[in-house]
Amino acid sequence: MSLDKIWLSSPHMGGNEQKYVNEAFDTNWVAPLGPNVNGFEGDLETYLLSNSHVGVLSSGTSALHLGLILLGVGYGDEVICQSMTFSASANPIKYVGANPVFVDSEPDTWNICPDSLEEAIKDRIKRGKKPKAIIAVHLYGMPYKADRIKQISDLYDIPVLEDSAEALGSTFKGQKCGTFGDIGILSFNGNKIITTSGGGAIVLKNKELKDKAVFLSTQARDAAPHYQHSEVGYNYRMSNVCAGIGRGQMEVLDEHISLRRRMNHFYNTLFENIKGVNVFKEPNGDFYSNHWLSAITVDFTTTGKTREDLRLAFEEKNIESRPLWKPMHMQPVFKGCSYYGGNVSESLFESGLCLPSGSNLEDVDRERIFEVINTVFDLAIST
Ligand SMILES: *Cc1c(COP(=O)(O)O)cnc(C)c1O
Repeated sequence: MSLDKIWLSSPHMGGNEQKYVNEAFDTNWVAPLGPNVNGFEGDLETYLLSNSHVGVLSSGTSALHLGLILLGVGYGDEVICQSMTFSASANPIKYVGANPVFVDSEPDTWNICPDSLEEAIKDRIKRGKKPKAIIAVHLYGMPYKADRIKQISDLYDIPVLEDSAEALGSTFKGQKCGTFGDIGILSFNGNKIITTSGGGAIVLKNKELKDKAVFLSTQARDAAPHYQHSEVGYNYRMSNVCAGIGRGQMEVLDEHISLRRRMNHFYNTLFENIKGVNVFKEPNGDFYSNHWLSAITVDFTTTGKTREDLRLAFEEKNIESRPLWKPMHMQPVFKGCSYYGGNVSESLFESGLCLPSGSNLEDVDRERIFEVINTVFDLAIST
């Protein structure tokens, strides 16, 4: 008998999702509009506060694409982007014909380094091109230093597109992630903190901008009885069926965050006495992470082990783990793009591993995870 797979992060239904989905079928709102779409947007606005106006879309990637369009980014422009992230943070820069300029991470939050960001801005301006936007990401649910990034954004008058795909429910100085940027985005992909099977949202500062985002996401139809278009449109709206899943998920979001944080606590306790293994944690009380994924770095000189040793040991026991995001400036697809900073993101990629973090993991799963870690690191200690 082979053991069930333990995933990094898998969908975790709360129970009422199907009720909302059934309502969509019962009322025949099987379309990219309807009561669940409006209801889910209302739930998110209530949750995020900060006078946010939310439009739900077909993915986080489409939200980033629309975000760049709303910020006026176009062909030949430059956009600064955190290098260490998922490729979906950077790909939309290419969709609009602009060029990414990548910036290194800082060691404590693993997110965009304010010093390297400022260095990049100054150098690009000196070269004659002021960047049009800054894409900052809250990796694995850890907030970036929103106050410092905002200062830099204000100083140089460059808007921030906040990629909060992994950070719904995280806060910085008490304010919810997703509400810091000039525009924010969320993702509800299958592996995220809550899911609509696939989906995303754009978070805007006023109703006019939200209306504009919804207009663009529904094929940019002008007000006319026939199909009339003055702008290029997109088919990016969320389905009312998927939004029903989202409404059910919102009911259990905070509970699922506390379960993710419990997984993080489990790893903190486990690795407490293993020198050379560091669990990624909040730098201080200003930061509150949803701990979407728990992650560690493994120092080879101290432990005699690499993150690959642990990853392969997990794999053997049908447990998923994964190296940290490979920085974008190291990716073949972005070869030749400008890069500012040192080797923080590169060394994180070399030594870092994401561990099973789902809110649906149980004691039997934790027992299996413990066994693997114990085997790998006990051996390291005895040699
Ligand atoms: C998941 C993710 C996205 C993309 O969201 P999708 O809904 O999958 O399109 C963008 N940025 C980051 C950092 C992500 O983790």
